[in-house]
Amino acid sequence: MADFSLQLNDDQLQIKDWIHGFAKDVMRPAAQEWDDREEFPWPIVQEAAKMGLYGLDFLMNAMSDPTGLTLPVAIEEIFWGDAGLGMAIMGSGLAAAGITGNGTPEQVMEWVPQCYGTADDVKLGAFCVSEPDAGSDVSSLRTRAVYDEATDEWVLNGTKAWITNGGIANIHVVVAAVDTSLKGRGQASFVVPPGTKGLSMGQKYKKHGIKASHTSEVVLDDVRIPGRCLLGGKEKLDAKLARAHEAGRTGEGQPAMKTFEATRPAVGAQALGVARAAYEIALDYAKERVAFGKPIIMNQAIAFKLANMATQIDASRLLIWRAAWLARNGGFTNAEGSMSKYYASETAVRVTEDAIQILGGYGYTREYDVERMHRDAKIHTIFEGTSEIQQLVIARAISGLRVE
Ligand SMILES: Cc1cc2nc3c(=O)[nH]c(=O)nc-3n(C[C@H](O)[C@H](O)[C@H](O)COP(=O)(O)OP(=O)(O)OC[C@H]3O[C@@H](n4cnc5c(N)ncnc54)[C@H](O)[C@@H]3O)c2cc1C
Repeated sequence: MADFSLQLNDDQLQIKDWIHGFAKDVMRPAAQEWDDREEFPWPIVQEAAKMGLYGLDFLMNAMSDPTGLTLPVAIEEIFWGDAGLGMAIMGSGLAAAGITGNGTPEQVMEWVPQCYGTADDVKLGAFCVSEPDAGSDVSSLRTRAVYDEATDEWVLNGTKAWITNGGIANIHVVVAAVDTSLKGRGQASFVVPPGTKGLSMGQKYKKHGIKASHTSEVVLDDVRIPGRCLLGGKEKLDAKLARAHEAGRTGEGQPAMKTFEATRPAVGAQALGVARAAYEIALDYAKERVAFGKPIIMNQAIAFKLANMATQIDASRLLIWRAAWLARNGGFTNAEGSMSKYYASETAVRVTEDAIQILGGYGYTREYDVERMHRDAKIHTIFEGTSEIQQLVIARAISGLRVE
């Protein structure tokens, strides 16, 4: 077990500086353009791949850190640069986490590298769980996976909604119902390999924020995939289904929930990066902007706002680091992952709104980045478990009761 320390080690400090340079020099100056274009920022992701930030090696390196802090430190810097571009860089990570969390070592070796490609030939991954009628309630998925014994193939049918990198990814990881009578316990995850017939992109969503990240429907129309694309393998699935039937248990333990649990501190770190970026702009501005003959920061109304912003940002980071450390050292005991994501995402919305208020009229226009940051912050209270769902998870953990 690694010691928990608030002192980052040399490796972590080096990575932080290295990413900060990219965030400052490449991402921040390009952010508004890609927000306006609302297109996937291939040149930025390619640049991130060339420097080794987008790719399997970076992910493996960050994941192997025994303290667990390297990943949230890295993500905070990326999202400090820009959240839309940040999501474009991080989006494939969810597919990689879905494969790693549910697949055999052979499947991880085969499919995770294909979620990233190489520096010269960048690829993407997409993790497809949500559906038009099942977002928070992932136990109600309608996408079906049926096994065709004659050909040892799975046949997938359904529509996935709001999928990051949906339809433009090389690898789509799809969570589908195998046995609907078991609800969440009757689900499994599948890899849909590149170029598989029947998978197509539905509507591409126009969004409030993180516009540089691509979000689409994914339509699965008689998608046939080989048996080996079932993550974890058939034997394990059959045993799980038999156990669930025997116990008569339903609802708990969906593969998708497993992925989201592991990624919650990382999503908290994304929100933290956005909050810190907006706070820094507001602090600088408040020291320079003069009204009634003095810098506006000399008014408690403004200075206290900044004091609250700084406090909540630091509190978010502490919750995230604790959760990230626990995730690598013994696991969550009291929904600490949810606490970190919940607090950091609500903080990001509040802090970015306060930043606009501090910048006044300038803050409301696109002349300053805080307007975009406010739009970008909001997604963090919605995806990978809404704030209400995080509260539900925390309430159940602290009470030991199935709070509804
Ligand atoms: C930009 C973007 C990217 C996304 N990327 C992905 C992706 O890559 N892969 C993927 O699978 N999904 C993705 N999603 C989907 C996202 O995870 C869902 O939108 C989210 O889980 C919420 O589901 P929903 O939209 O169906 O809302 P609903 O579940 O319908 O919730 C609506 C409201 O009701 C509340 N609510 C629901 N149930 C309860 C309850 N039991 N108690 C209290 N309140 C409740 C919610 O908190 C929310 O406020 C993405 C979404 C967006 C917007």
